[in-house]
Amino acid sequence: MMAKTYHDNDADLALIQGKKVAVIGYGSQGHAHALNLKDSGVDVKIGLRPGSASAKKAELVGLEVVSVKDAAEWADVIMVLVPDQTAAAVYEEIAPGLKAGNTLMFAHGFNIRFRTINPPADVDVSLVAPKSPGHRVREVFTEGGGVPGLVAVEQDASGNALALALSYAKGIGCTRAGVLETTFTEETETDLFGEQAVLCGGAAALVKCGFEVLTEAGYQPELAYFEVLHELKLIVDLMYRGGLEYMNYSVSDTAEWGGYEAQAYIVTPETKNKMKELLANIQSGKFAEKFINENKTGRKELDAYRKAEASHPIEKVGGALRAAMPFLDPLKVENGTVVK
Ligand code: NAD
Ligand code: MG
Ligand code: MG
Ligand code: MG
Ligand code: MG
Ligand code: MG
Repeated sequence: MMAKTYHDNDADLALIQGKKVAVIGYGSQGHAHALNLKDSGVDVKIGLRPGSASAKKAELVGLEVVSVKDAAEWADVIMVLVPDQTAAAVYEEIAPGLKAGNTLMFAHGFNIRFRTINPPADVDVSLVAPKSPGHRVREVFTEGGGVPGLVAVEQDASGNALALALSYAKGIGCTRAGVLETTFTEETETDLFGEQAVLCGGAAALVKCGFEVLTEAGYQPELAYFEVLHELKLIVDLMYRGGLEYMNYSVSDTAEWGGYEAQAYIVTPETKNKMKELLANIQSGKFAEKFINENKTGRKELDAYRKAEASHPIEKVGGALRAAMPFLDPLKVENGTVVK
């Protein structure tokens, strides 16, 4: 069965144009939602902490910035776009402004799925999650397109929650590409699994291990870097456009055959069982509990992980190689911020 998908014709922009929308947070997703909605003729205000560094950016482009409490009080629709680990604390300021018939929206289901936020029964709770980093949500919209997204309804007090969520999705451009219907549970669990098992965890572990095996065998680190990290993007680009079949069509027969032969060495039944364990920990709430506790206790493990990752030899050689390839538009992270 194919997932139910909505396009521009399935959504009525007038619904969201008739509402006052508070976008809480002005980061990666927040700036994109706010600006796209504004361009779609929606009445938007930004809710931020006093003294927030994001406030100036929002004001510079003509958006009104108020406190989280005032934004929630003013709005009919409140979209929560703060980091997932801070959303429960920020919700304390939103809750007094949530009146019967209001809509509380999210771009990721974490806090509803794991019950760190428990909205009252008389408000709608929905999700519009662009399947893209925020900066692409904005860029693609200004080019006349949109990024695909997900829509879900957790609580439908008004009986109109899905129609309003689709209208919001149209306002930020997602229905131009297609919006898939899901649930908070499915969105949250698949998102966490994907980033842990394959995208962020799995890919990083494969890259580091491949680099270690080559350099420990005496090969030059620069070559190892190109083979296991730099070229990964080129391969993923092929998969992105035409799936595994197009990737294999495009690479040499040598690479294709060697790849098939290697697959079962690299991902063994044990690896699959480990992936199932990750999924079970996500489904049971064990992962969420650990992450929430990590954030409450000073993020010491996160800090240690970041230090260990940054000191891996592939990062040293990679930094030097990328600096010599300005056409890549290389970036680096220093003390938690991005520098060119
Ligand atoms: P972000 O870290 O880029 O931005 C966070 C914003 O929240 C900043 O403007 C910050 O000033 C503000 N903020 C932080 N703490 C706050 C507080 N206590 N009170 C008020 N404002 C506060 O966040 P993001 O990556 O845009 O993520 C927002 C949501 O979107 C999350 O639920 C995330 O899972 C979801 N999401 C993100 C992406 C992505 O590409 N980054 C993609 C899909 C969904
Ligand atoms: Mg309100
Ligand atoms: Mg994801
Ligand atoms: Mg995620
Ligand atoms: Mg090669
Ligand atoms: Mg081929």
